[in-house]
Amino acid sequence: MGCVVQMARFARFPLGHFPTPLEPMDRLTAKLRARHDKVPNLWIKRDDCTGLATGGNKTRKLEYLVGDAIAQGADTLITQGATQSNHARQTAAAAARAGMHSWVLLERRQVRDEEYENSGNVLLDQLLGATIMDQFQAGADMDAAMAEIADDLRSEGRKPYVIPGGGSNPVGALGYVGCALELDAAPVAIDWVVHATGSTGTQAGLVAGLRAVHSPAKVLGVSVRQTEHKQIDAVLALAEPTADSIGTQVGRDDVLVDDRWVGEGYGVPTQSMIDAVYLLAGTEGILLDPVYSGKAFAGLLGGIAEGRFAETDNVVFLHTGGAVGLFAYRTTFQ
Ligand SMILES: *Cc1c(COP(=O)(O)O)cnc(C)c1O
Repeated sequence: MGCVVQMARFARFPLGHFPTPLEPMDRLTAKLRARHDKVPNLWIKRDDCTGLATGGNKTRKLEYLVGDAIAQGADTLITQGATQSNHARQTAAAAARAGMHSWVLLERRQVRDEEYENSGNVLLDQLLGATIMDQFQAGADMDAAMAEIADDLRSEGRKPYVIPGGGSNPVGALGYVGCALELDAAPVAIDWVVHATGSTGTQAGLVAGLRAVHSPAKVLGVSVRQTEHKQIDAVLALAEPTADSIGTQVGRDDVLVDDRWVGEGYGVPTQSMIDAVYLLAGTEGILLDPVYSGKAFAGLLGGIAEGRFAETDNVVFLHTGGAVGLFAYRTTFQ
């Protein structure tokens, strides 16, 4: 364990159950050891169990974002994401919990089927009381759309607070500094943390937090949307100000990304994702999601097959949630 990071000076509104459990995946480890050499000890950090309206990684970010929104006197949260955004759903739940209204702007990054448009997270956005705007076509300027709605609400005398896609800014990334501190305090010495990386707040916060406590753990982000170089640039661009806000520094060498598991693009199923979802469900009874954690888990399995990890390493898969998205992809799995 390293130095103390003073998190108490940042405004925070409690939304989740923390620390999340860190569990061994003994059955999976044994099964993989029968197939490959150099299989590390596999653990899972259950950020799918943060507890907020089916949980997920956005809950940690939203604790700081909603804390900031309350400090600014906001009465409405506005955010955006893809149709099946887990972030939009957790933001809608956070708003309900904080007694605020929420607007979620959904971009149709891909056109699938009726279940994709209406089930899974979209159903939950509705139940959680969000005002849903779902007519945005792929590539629409979502930030401009949020700014426009915020202006309209201000002119009606309301106090909107705009949260960027994925909750990924230096305030939201503080949530993953908190996760890094939980991992550093775990009773097992962690060598690797593997997780899905998209809008970058998760990886940026983890890297900044682990550096702050001088942890030797390496963080490997499995990209769900863009190439390794672009994703490293994006993670670093957020990790730097996040590190600065907690009094530490990060470098490019701290940011590791594997971009080989995206397939045809964001939210487009791959066979390795489908296999990963079935494998973890069948060995550990844990549900991954089709867009993020399923592809990240495929990346972890690929890394094991390549011998990337030492047999004595403790490798933690950070489960970032999203399993309600399975309902939106029913036909992919049946
Ligand atoms: C948003 C999300 C991610 C990616 O986290 P970022 O901080 O956006 O990189 C991973 N998994 C799930 C399930 C998500 O909803």
